[in-house]
Amino acid sequence: MYKHTIISSTSNILSSPVEYLTGVSAVRGDLLRKELGIFTFKDLLEHYPIRHVDKTKVDTISSILIETEYAQVAGKLISMQIVGEKRSRRLIAQLKDQTGIIELVWFQGIQWVEKILHIGNQYLVFGKLGFFMGKPQMAHPDIENYTPQNAGGKSYLEPVYPSTEKLKAKGLNGKIIGKLTQELFQRITEKDIPENLPDSILKEFKLMNRFDACKQIHLPVSDKNYRQALRRLKFEELFLAQLSIQLIKLNRLKTSKGLVFEKIGVLFNDFYENHIPFQLTNAQKNVLKEIRKDIGSGRQMNRLLQGDVGSGKTMVALLSMLIAADNGYQSVLMAPTEILAQQHFNSITDLLKGLPLNISLLTGSTTAKERKLVLQGCEEGSVTILIGTHAIIEDKVVFKNLGFSVVDEQHKFGVAQRAKLWKKSVVPPHVLVMTATPIPRTLALTVYGDLDFSVIDELPPGRQPITTVQRNETARPQVMDFIKEQLQLGRQAYVVYPLIEESSKLDFENLMKGFEEVKSFFPEPAYWISMVHGKQPAALKETNMNRFVQGDTQILVGTTVIEVGVNVPNASVMVIESAEKFGLSQLHQLRGRVGRGADKSYCILLTGQKISHDARERLKMMVSTNDGFKISEKDLELRGPGEIEGTRQSGTLQFKLANIVDDKVILEAARNSVETILTKDADLISPENQPLKTFLQLQKTKTRWSKIA
Ligand code: ADP
Ligand code: MG
Repeated sequence: MYKHTIISSTSNILSSPVEYLTGVSAVRGDLLRKELGIFTFKDLLEHYPIRHVDKTKVDTISSILIETEYAQVAGKLISMQIVGEKRSRRLIAQLKDQTGIIELVWFQGIQWVEKILHIGNQYLVFGKLGFFMGKPQMAHPDIENYTPQNAGGKSYLEPVYPSTEKLKAKGLNGKIIGKLTQELFQRITEKDIPENLPDSILKEFKLMNRFDACKQIHLPVSDKNYRQALRRLKFEELFLAQLSIQLIKLNRLKTSKGLVFEKIGVLFNDFYENHIPFQLTNAQKNVLKEIRKDIGSGRQMNRLLQGDVGSGKTMVALLSMLIAADNGYQSVLMAPTEILAQQHFNSITDLLKGLPLNISLLTGSTTAKERKLVLQGCEEGSVTILIGTHAIIEDKVVFKNLGFSVVDEQHKFGVAQRAKLWKKSVVPPHVLVMTATPIPRTLALTVYGDLDFSVIDELPPGRQPITTVQRNETARPQVMDFIKEQLQLGRQAYVVYPLIEESSKLDFENLMKGFEEVKSFFPEPAYWISMVHGKQPAALKETNMNRFVQGDTQILVGTTVIEVGVNVPNASVMVIESAEKFGLSQLHQLRGRVGRGADKSYCILLTGQKISHDARERLKMMVSTNDGFKISEKDLELRGPGEIEGTRQSGTLQFKLANIVDDKVILEAARNSVETILTKDADLISPENQPLKTFLQLQKTKTRWSKIA
């Protein structure tokens, strides 16, 4: 009881409006809310400094090297002038200390800067360094008056806070915000920010206590203290996020009822022993084991299966569907396009030849007569495996006893579409979602931590790695000659153009030009070319695509619409035009269209003259590896966690301090300790876990974790 009163009183003071602080008028309060989202003391507490200035630590200008990233220098302003016209108009100033001169540049707010700076005065300047014609330069540095008192005194780390132009105009610059924070700490005591992590964890990871960390991150006594405070608070963020995810998962496991597939029967065994044309890889076997455990457990499986292109996900799905059939249940396999559905249908029918199973196909182009038969079969239960496009989730499709659903190429389906699958059965069927867009492990566990998650991290043996090269556009004739050689060997080739926006006229014109150009190298009737792009009517697209699939055309010119899953083992060359414009995961997906057969395959990245730093990194990565997981890690690093496919809306990656790329080590540690705690004490009832329990009860979870299937 006593504990509770303390805590509820604490939550009160932290929820006081910022106006309670001296110097925050109604107008300033309004601005703090609008500009920085600071409503309460707590919000101010979580408005963290971007850095700390130690005015006693000044670099000499001559000590700045080309690899120096940031510097703080002090000296006299010796010149200031505006140069350039219009867009290139800028203010250039020179600052001189005993050792040299550094240039300061402003492109914006020139008038204001000109007004506040005075030639002959001393300034302390901090900023990111650039080099211009071999000389150090800082653009838009932080700058303030410098007096000898600043220097030489006792080392003191002054926090610098992010602020905005509007706030600065009302006198609320980063420094004044610092004053507010200082006042805040005079108002609150340790009991207002009680510890929320168990003691054992603090000890195990040598974490600073919560109150100290909150204070030291703003007003550290030393750099070392600051780093300890930061580490503690990052740990806390990641720990609490993991805890919510894991609690949601535990809750799902407790409450979701699922069909029980107990036995492995004749269908599975016969197929496994007599029909599979190859040995399963160990990775495939492991995933199958994971699935078997799930579907025998009495709760609904909701599993995401990741595997690089060509890793053999379909076989895992097929074997799972056979187990469903052995237990008397129907299955569906849903593919994102008609061609893919057709391909799955053909290959699965082929593999299951001789087994007493009814496999049916349902897509948009199924004739009315066939459709009627298929629907009837589903309802009566005679259709064992239904393969199709989203036509299979229409309300008219009714099953006798649907037990297993496979969704191929997950990212092309919306959550709502997948949810429809669940409703096709009283007890929802088990769901296996397969995706070839690898998500880095750290990300997956953070975003999809409430799901079951499997990875096929091994390709079937004997695959020849695809050789990837980058070539300048000027080498196009040689590239075409190379394609010609491959076609003479009987192979086929893809040529892909960027169509970043389907509506972009320029991109479209480029595609048409490209098509004509390819045609001029490969004239009919010696060669046949088909073209696919998003503007074509679906039927035409299908026809053109199918001509290539069947080998009637040797070259497929197209946009990224060819990206998804199509399987033409005879294709051995993938040429990607303007490759610098594509994202990494897209490049990898496109490359995955070749190398699917026994022949040696090639991916040629054609690039223009202008390549940005990031694009260069992407191309380098593509040339150096075929490993989709490595590529996705790089993608995450280049684009940041918010930009990765399928995670954008999840909101689960927005941390105030932590960053799942840079703080991977802390993330792992936090996740492991959450697991340990919940394994021992899932309801958090032990006294040791009280701080956590109390904290969670007080917190109303703001974040909603997304469900993918
Ligand atoms: P993806 O994971 O991209 O969907 P698929 O399931 O289409 O890959 O498999 C790609 C190819 O590899 C198919 O032709 C399939 O028959 C073959 N394959 C799958 N598993 C194995 C294996 N264990 N050994 C050899 N070939 C395999
Ligand atoms: Mg596939």
